[in-house]
Amino acid sequence: MPLSKLSCLIVDDDRFMLKTLEVLLQQIGVTKTYSSDNAQDALKYIANQNNHIDIIISDLNMPEMDGIQLLRHLGGLGVAMGIILVSGEDPRLLQSVKTLGETFDLMVLGTLGKPVAKQELQSLIEEYEPSADTPPTGPAAMVFADELKMAIANHEIKVHYQPQVSLIDGRIVGVEALARWNHPVKGAISPSIFIGIAEKYSMIKELTNQVFEQSLTQASHWRSQGFDINLSVNFSAQALTQLDMPESIFEQLQGSALRPHNLNIEITESTLASDISIALDILTRLRLKGFGLSIDDFGTGFSSLEQLQQIPFTELKVDRSFVHNANVNRACQVILESSISLTKKLGIKSVAEGVENEADLNLVKAQGCDIVQGYYFAKPMPPEEFIPWARDYSSSLNRPFKPGD
Ligand SMILES: [Mg+2]
Repeated sequence: MPLSKLSCLIVDDDRFMLKTLEVLLQQIGVTKTYSSDNAQDALKYIANQNNHIDIIISDLNMPEMDGIQLLRHLGGLGVAMGIILVSGEDPRLLQSVKTLGETFDLMVLGTLGKPVAKQELQSLIEEYEPSADTPPTGPAAMVFADELKMAIANHEIKVHYQPQVSLIDGRIVGVEALARWNHPVKGAISPSIFIGIAEKYSMIKELTNQVFEQSLTQASHWRSQGFDINLSVNFSAQALTQLDMPESIFEQLQGSALRPHNLNIEITESTLASDISIALDILTRLRLKGFGLSIDDFGTGFSSLEQLQQIPFTELKVDRSFVHNANVNRACQVILESSISLTKKLGIKSVAEGVENEADLNLVKAQGCDIVQGYYFAKPMPPEEFIPWARDYSSSLNRPFKPGD
């Protein structure tokens, strides 16, 4: 979305700060700005249906209603706007507030220290994606669920592939399979929405199966053409309740060009918070059969070191929010560093997601990360684009393209 189309609401009890932010926003091209010197008035403004706000930039420390209380109220309103928090406080405190905002289901774009740097403000604002991305609720969700059911039944969910590159030799080591739904009328629906709906309305098993089958056929095809690549597939928490899951995956791999160690099963970290005993049974047997096990979105959940040692993971994927923000946010950098050092201690591979620019790449490289994935190399792409991309990429490495290289 062009910055000139955005409307921002600034909330700060310090009028000088309000003016400063307003000027900074104008400098980066956001011209529609509104300001309020207290959270109550800001809430009233937002609650009024005639006012449209894309992003709220709020101070944390304010008399009467502070930034955290404001977040709670915004959570109650179910707003779909982006939120940026500003404070002179410790970056770790800001990070906790960000996490808190996410538990209220708010789209927290990030946090900024004071004084606010224009560059940081701009990069957070650019993270904002308009609210078409918020899951529908109430009757709208039911309609949506029906449409998704049809799409799954008609095999309209397609798989896109995001390459993974080794930081040791630059080689393409694998692809992550990602579900994509292009709705005939509504256009591309964000996976964070339809996967959430699929989980809620018991369609996730079917959806996962389809993604797995499609991507297995595709990866098998690439491997038989000489590409030595692995396939990573996301499995929902709900998959970890079917005790025969390791056997059925093993069976599906028979006859393909993939051996079990060529398949990484990605499980999100938050899954581990629920009943661990059945999950542990399944995960251990998957590992016994030789599959790779990946802990996904690491840093967003609360898994303990003990849990990590209990489960025979072979790979840890650091969530993009800690990677892409690490060079501007000290707290993110600390999480990134400690996650990577944890993989060294556990003797498992580290994968950094969300490597979007050279600064991100240099940072994860310096930390000794093994594999990277992100827009800097490639966006998720439809299968027909993968081989041309791989050809271009390999020639940019100054090496002749050679399948299986
Ligand atoms: Mg994943």
